[in-house]
Amino acid sequence: MNLPPNKGQTDSAVLYQRALEVMPGGCSRNTILRKPHPLYADYGQSCYLVDKAGKSRIDFSNNLASLIHGHAHPAVVSAVTEQLLKGTACTLATESEVRYAEHLCSRNNGFEQIRFVNSGTEAVMCCLKAARAYTNKSGIAKVEGSYHGSYDYAEVSQIATPENWGDANRPSSVPVVYGTPDAVLNDVKVIPFNDPENAISILNNHADDIACVLVDLLPHRVGLSPVTQDFITEIFHWTRRNNTLLVVDEVITFRTRYGGAQDCYDVRPDLTALGKMIGGGFPVGAVAGRRDIMQLMNPLSRHYLFPLSGTFSANPITMVAGLTSMEMYNESAVERINTLGKRAREGIAEAIRIADVPFSVNGAGSLFRVHVKPVIPGNYRAAFLNADEARILNTLLDYLFDNGLMLIDTCTGALSTAMTEKEIDIACEIFLDGFREIKPLLATQSAA
Ligand code: PMP
Repeated sequence: MNLPPNKGQTDSAVLYQRALEVMPGGCSRNTILRKPHPLYADYGQSCYLVDKAGKSRIDFSNNLASLIHGHAHPAVVSAVTEQLLKGTACTLATESEVRYAEHLCSRNNGFEQIRFVNSGTEAVMCCLKAARAYTNKSGIAKVEGSYHGSYDYAEVSQIATPENWGDANRPSSVPVVYGTPDAVLNDVKVIPFNDPENAISILNNHADDIACVLVDLLPHRVGLSPVTQDFITEIFHWTRRNNTLLVVDEVITFRTRYGGAQDCYDVRPDLTALGKMIGGGFPVGAVAGRRDIMQLMNPLSRHYLFPLSGTFSANPITMVAGLTSMEMYNESAVERINTLGKRAREGIAEAIRIADVPFSVNGAGSLFRVHVKPVIPGNYRAAFLNADEARILNTLLDYLFDNGLMLIDTCTGALSTAMTEKEIDIACEIFLDGFREIKPLLATQSAA
């Protein structure tokens, strides 16, 4: 690797002091924060990320599950470099957008048409707006605790707590941001995860108001357990009976199968929100789905009800990076990374057993999540950490980080194709050491 030496660069502690002066919390996204200060990146290469102190870690965060091939993949670097020389954004259409749209639509027969936007938040927002325009209804139903970005309606209940989440069978609409209008909370109906009976009963009470049901098929914050076939089928049939759309958020889960996690189920959503990995390392979002619904965004159509534009939407840098990445993420690459994901889940489960700690691990495809719970939690409430569990998890995450493993802050890992069995096995060993290290803390907790 011929990278410039790190000499003469400002160190992380000093940089953070400067950052605190000009940005609230010293950053633009809370996910980079660490105590006593965030670490600043020097460079990423393949599945390793190196900080300014020169410490290298295996990267299982992959920028929050968005870098499917790890850092600086040569094919992506070369495609982007070529495009950079021709300009980064312009007010003419580009061939790259057409080629990429064709590629993504070819991966899933439910993606009859697609539109690109700039983030997963925006993709989900567009799905919800399209559903409203199509059904002429304003309400949204979503699963308790599920994360879909920061659109007002999509974020309801995302950080619900035992103090405000209400009855498990009738979860409350809990706002994230102080000052969220009551109208938003009234328009969002929260349904319990994988509980078709209660979910359908809530939906029935608001059938005339609900434009769509928004579901993530493997919701990370809800515990990373998959939606059951039963749950999604019942919801799908309910939507057919009630002039309502089924919207699936595949911003993270698209990586789990060639055509997305929805390939595992026997119902097709009307609209799918995409993001993260499909940007090839650059900001992106996309809405894909039924042609008749997508035509609402077509200014040339008689049914033009949803104007949609964005200054950087489908910019050629994202398009070429995304196309190059997704072409490389073919059926066999998906299969290979999923096999590595299985090895990671099995290796961590074995480490939990050897260390004899009351933890569990789950996930699917190239994703895993470690829970400070003896039994895999089946929903948001079961996955919710009390103060002691949160302290234990944070101590574990710090240990893993200090010993060379970078994870998402829920102790979730998202693999990249740059990884091999070697990195997976090293990670499992570090997990085992970490479990042993924090075991005494568990005794303190039960004695308290
Ligand atoms: N949906 C899901 C399932 C996500 O995980 C995220 C981001 N973590 C989003 C939507 C929002 O994506 P973005 O951060 O690109 O706005």
